[in-house]
Parts: sequence; C-alpha cells; structure tokens
Amino acid sequence: MSYVERLVCSKCGTAYEPEESPVMCRKRDFGRLDVEYDYEAVSAKLTRASLRSRAPRDVWRYEELLPVRQKFAVKLGEGNTPLIHAKRLGEKLGIGNLYLKDETRNPTASFKDRAMAVGIAKAVELGKKDVAIASSGNAAASLAAYSAAAGIRCHAFVPDDAAIGKIAQLMLYGAAILRCRQEKEGEDATVQAMLEAVEESGYYPCPSFGPFNPYQVEGPKTISFELHEQHEWAEIDWIFVPTGSGCLLTGVWKGLQDLRGVGLVRSYPRLVSVQPKGNQALTKAINMHLRFDQIVPEAYPKSVASGLLDPFPWDGDSALTGVEKTRGAGVSVDDPAIVQAVKDLAACEGVFAEPSGAAGVAGLTKLLEEGVVEKGDTSVVLVTGSGLKEPDKVMSMFSQMP
Ligand SMILES: *Cc1c(COP(=O)(O)O)cnc(C)c1O
Ligand SMILES: [Zn+2]
Repeated sequence: MSYVERLVCSKCGTAYEPEESPVMCRKRDFGRLDVEYDYEAVSAKLTRASLRSRAPRDVWRYEELLPVRQKFAVKLGEGNTPLIHAKRLGEKLGIGNLYLKDETRNPTASFKDRAMAVGIAKAVELGKKDVAIASSGNAAASLAAYSAAAGIRCHAFVPDDAAIGKIAQLMLYGAAILRCRQEKEGEDATVQAMLEAVEESGYYPCPSFGPFNPYQVEGPKTISFELHEQHEWAEIDWIFVPTGSGCLLTGVWKGLQDLRGVGLVRSYPRLVSVQPKGNQALTKAINMHLRFDQIVPEAYPKSVASGLLDPFPWDGDSALTGVEKTRGAGVSVDDPAIVQAVKDLAACEGVFAEPSGAAGVAGLTKLLEEGVVEKGDTSVVLVTGSGLKEPDKVMSMFSQMP
C-alpha cells in the first residue's frame, strides 16, 4: 500500500494523483511536484518503537515515506551511512559535539545514490527502458550504476571538464556519455541537451533536480531520518549541507518536515546551505532576502568543488524556505578553505572526501569564527562525496609529491 496522497506543483499548484506517476508538471513551468503523504496513516506504523525492531538497514527502511514500493527497488546498499562523532576535528575547531554523516560510504561513493535508488525504482515501476541525466558527475555515475543493475540504458549529459574518476565510473557502468560545453553566460548546457533528448526520444528524465524528477528529493530526505535515529532522537542544532542545485538541501528539509508531520520530532535543526565563493547564487539570495524568482544565476561558475557548480539552483525555492523556516543560514567559502577542509577531514578523522563533499566543514568553520554557531551547539556536517573521485585534485593540493 502507498501512503502518497498527491503530488503538487511548486510553481502553479496543479495537483496530480499518485497513480499518474507524473515526472514534470504538464505546464512545463519548471515547478517541482512535491510529494504529499498521509501523515496520520504513516504515524501509526512509523514510530520510534517500531523502528527499533525494523530490519532493513538502507533507504527502504522508511518505505511508508517513500513514493515507490520497495518491490521495485534495485538495491546496491544505499543509505545507512555512519554518523561519526568527530572528536579530533571537533577539538581542532574548539567544539565537542561535532558529527559527520559520512555519505562517501554509499555504493558509488556519494549521497546521490539515495536519490537515484528511488528514481530508478520509479523507472522500473513505470517499465522505462531509457533514462537521461544532466550532471557534473556524481549523479550521472550513480544513475549509471543503478541503470546497469536494473538493465536500463542510461544517457548521461556531462560538462566537458567533468572529473576523470566520475567519467571512469560512467564508462564502466556502460552509460552513453554526451559531453556538453557551456556556450552562454549562466546557461546549463547539460540540462538543455537533456531536456531536448527527453522531449525528442521520450527518455525518462532522472537528473538530481526536483523540477525534472520529483522522486529525487525523496531519496536524500532519508538522511534526515537516519541521522535523527542514529542520534537517538536527541536534539541537533545545526545541519551543514554543501549546496549546488539545492536538491540535497530540499531533501533534507523535506525529511525534517516528514519527521515532524508523523510526530517523530518536535523541533527542527537549523539548516545551513554552504556554497563555494565561485558559485554562490543561493547564498546571496538567502543573505539578501531575495525571492526565488529574483535569483540571478552565476555567469561562469568556478571552484575546486566541481559538484557544487550548477549555475542555477533548480530547487532554490524550497532550499530558501528550508533555511528560513529553520532559522538557518547561507554561507560561502573560498577554495583554500575547502581544500583545508579536505585535509582536516582526512588527517583528523580518516574520512576521505572530495572538495564538494568537504565544503560543509569549511562552512561550519566560518560560522564558528563569526560566532553564529556556539561552542556548545551540536552540529552535523554532511560529507557528501568521496575523494577517490578526484585523485588529481587531491594530489594538486600538495606542492611536492612524496
Ligand atoms: C551533487 C552534490 C552536492 C550538491 O547537491 P545539490 O543537490 O546539487 O545541491 C554536494 N556534494 C556532492 C559530492 C555532490 O555530488
Ligand atoms: Zn506547474
């Protein structure tokens, strides 16, 4: 049985029945179809007590709050990543209650596996044979892996400077790779090319952006479920989220709302969106109190954090709401601070992150310096992707090879 009540377009408010399994709003207005659940019915099944005796230790543990039935899932071990008490890094930063949600442990080494596991399960349910994605790398690598396991063809539109480790994954998982170059200011060439392919060939769109696939938000939200369960429902003050398109932040925010909706938590942690200085449209919008439709895309995004370079925050509307409603913050960090975070995570905690994956630590460092985060606060930093994806970048952080 499904607990989905309906899907509602974030732009125009059009409501869809779950049986329609819509992917994009039929008005093609780039609204995201937000999935609404029957919280009352779910709350009868999903309780702190029932969770204690529940078996599946992956994303599908929270099946009642997912938009597709577990029987359609292709399972590679997505989710159930460790929440690590980072004592040594905490000591360096002068705080005691620092936790890392280590998303590098997912099957293809980034949190995107949560989104793609749910996205592909939906494609399986719908009997799709071809899926399409626009991505700087991690999302495409993840979709390619889940497509391979499901026997579905994956068409990946990637920027021409995508990281070598991510391209290697795509090649081995058997995806068709289409490289795209940005030609115009603020344009996302990969998204344009993907949309054309979707309209022309009828591929199922599965990029990690809510407006093109509503199920993308529903996977990453399990991060919020897991970290509360792992923290034994004790209060968390801050969650630091590296942000590009805002889909991850939207997912984490959706997860918090679901938890409160079904009565599992009473209050929200404060959400912090962390962006690189070279691509900070959302941070600016948060700090200048802009509306979503006032956001100006970054003309030519540039940063060592290649996973955070979406010129336009597709899910920025919900990301802005999440930050506002939780009294959170938006912060930008420069590349040297991100590189320092990569080094600190590895040297203090044994966690090997790519620059995008480590940006949350740089964000926390900055808010500690500014006195926004206080010494006694409990912070969770999402470490979103593995350093093994970009070995060349890691090596270039050191002036001398050993
Ligand atoms: C995609 C990605 C992000 C950002 O997620 P958005 O949903 O685009 O905001 C952060 N870290 C890594 C490693 C990623 O691959
Ligand atoms: Zn709409």
